Amino acid sequence: MKNPFDKQLKARGDLLKQFGAGYGFRRETKAPEEKDHDPAETLEKLRKRIGNCKRCELGEARKNIVFGVGNPKARILFVGEGPPGEEEDNQGEPFVGRAGQLLTKIITGGMGLKREDVYIANIVKCRPPENRNPKPAEAIECLPFLKAQIAAIDPEVIICLGKIAVLYLLQRAEPIGQLRGRWASYNDIPVMPTFHPSYLLRNPAAKAEVWEDIQEVMKKLGIPIPTKK
Ligand code: URA
Repeated sequence: MKNPFDKQLKARGDLLKQFGAGYGFRRETKAPEEKDHDPAETLEKLRKRIGNCKRCELGEARKNIVFGVGNPKARILFVGEGPPGEEEDNQGEPFVGRAGQLLTKIITGGMGLKREDVYIANIVKCRPPENRNPKPAEAIECLPFLKAQIAAIDPEVIICLGKIAVLYLLQRAEPIGQLRGRWASYNDIPVMPTFHPSYLLRNPAAKAEVWEDIQEVMKKLGIPIPTKK
């Protein structure tokens, strides 16, 4: 069956083409060594293009757009769901609340990287009221911007955090427990789905599975894995 998202995504994506970022139906950037654009500049143009976005109802209640943060040439891109809390909304930065602290711990303590080494973005860029999940129309409206970020950054691996990221980026609706730990692909970029850090706060036992998934990513990228964890 033809995917119902495709038509809407393509229409939004055509708009984005004007600043050369592509929208993710086909990989439009080259390998990092061949990049003919400056990812930082492309991201900056994209941020300007988003402007004071009111394209969906999330734009009405949010304080700040949470665009994304990190190294524009990152090898690893983390994709979350959307800015859930006041901290993110106030600071305009993703993953700065409790779940964010846990994600930072995974990046620094687990992977031996700095938060600034990776890039962190979300499916939707505005905080949904009362911490609800983004509605499909909101996610579909915002998704081309994430796809443009991916095209600009051209990461070697994407880590999808939780079911909402997997649902909209990979268009996979199976439970995250079934999808995690198995490589998937977005536009030829390997994607590792894993549990969301908020889930880990509620279910600390699942940290072991996330660590397994993170190690798979590290192996793929040739990042040394600490022997004791
Ligand atoms: N913070 C974010 O920015 N996104 C999430 O999905 C969770 C916390």
